[in-house]
Amino acid sequence: MTDKEKIIAVLGSTGSVGQQALDVALKRGYRVDFLTANRNTHLAEKYVRLFKPSYVAMADEESFGDLKVRISDTDTRVLLGSEGITEGIERTAADTVVNSIIGEAGLIPTLKALEMKKRLALANKESLVVAGHIVMAKAKEFGAEIIPVDSEHSAIFQSLKSGKESEIKKIILTASGGPFFGKTREELEKVTLADTLAHPTWKMGKKITVDSATLMNKGFEIIEAAYLFGVGAEKIEVVVHRESILHSAVEYIDNSVIGEFSVPDMRMCVQYAVDYPHRCDAVCGELDLIKLSKMTFFRPDTKAFPLIELAKEAMKMGGAMPAVLNAADEVAAEKFLSEKIKFIQIADVVQNVFETLSDGCKYSSLEDILSFDKSAREIAENYILKLK
Ligand code: NDP
Repeated sequence: MTDKEKIIAVLGSTGSVGQQALDVALKRGYRVDFLTANRNTHLAEKYVRLFKPSYVAMADEESFGDLKVRISDTDTRVLLGSEGITEGIERTAADTVVNSIIGEAGLIPTLKALEMKKRLALANKESLVVAGHIVMAKAKEFGAEIIPVDSEHSAIFQSLKSGKESEIKKIILTASGGPFFGKTREELEKVTLADTLAHPTWKMGKKITVDSATLMNKGFEIIEAAYLFGVGAEKIEVVVHRESILHSAVEYIDNSVIGEFSVPDMRMCVQYAVDYPHRCDAVCGELDLIKLSKMTFFRPDTKAFPLIELAKEAMKMGGAMPAVLNAADEVAAEKFLSEKIKFIQIADVVQNVFETLSDGCKYSSLEDILSFDKSAREIAENYILKLK
């Protein structure tokens, strides 16, 4: 049992992680005081009626108006836009903010939650990819905790309890390999959107499902781990593990490998991040090792899937290069999801933007990073216009 009632805010509550976070809240009896969404007023209304939060914010203006009408009979105050999301973080009584917004839009809410000294249960990896130094410095300045929700990082966080920082040999970051594991570059020419969205082990939002298929997601996770745990990217090894049971591990200097094993279920990671340092009654199923019977491990194919190496390169180059990578990928993935480009072209777009801005993009402020982000998006859009 935890010491007191948990009060949480769920940003991106209508998404894949957000909905699972609310399921955990129901099962664990957390009070939900603040919710956000972008356009999904139907689900936002359902959650307002179910959880009776003090505040709900809609990022999209039209949806804000719609939700206001829908829930005018409730006591929940509706806030507008990205300013509304930060206002909600300022006002809410929540002690933990689960940030499950998708994309770069999650960065400012991350910074605000840390400034308000809330515990940040972080699913929005883009916060760290775009501005890792700034986010970690903010957490330190305000003495705020960041507990990762991404399953791999939750596993690493837990595995790091077994040794000291100076005793870490490497981090083993597992990857499911996505739906196209084993395919050559030539075979990837022919894959469709439907093939891409059929992930073998995880049910996730569409953008991260595309990133899992290109392995860009794993590249982002290298950057996320490097910032979160203060480990150089060269000490992070990606290992493809098709069953998604070992969620990642830490190898220590005595060659012990400490990992976290469980069924693939994001609710466990949300529960851990909110209840930490306690372990509480499970909200999801148990792992049956006998039924599982075997686990397989492979090296990733970085020729067919070049984006893992590009992420490492971005970390080596430093500056705003990880943010550039993220911006280019956000544009490319969106164009692929709207069937404007082919799967194989996602990596081409990202590589092109990366090479165009390869002077390292030195920055001294968040504004500089956001300006590189904007340039990267423009370069990506222009490059896509020229593609057949
Ligand atoms: P989804 O696309 O399923 O959900 C995204 C959420 O963000 C929705 O609530 C959406 O609102 C909201 N949103 C979209 N655009 C904006 C915006 N501009 N401003 C504010 N809110 C916005 O994403 P996922 O749940 O899959 O992923 C969320 C984050 O968690 C990502 O960073 C992802 O990398 C990470 N993650 C996801 C995992 C998963 O299993 N899905 C696993 C590990 C990490 P609306 O519904 O109204 O559009």
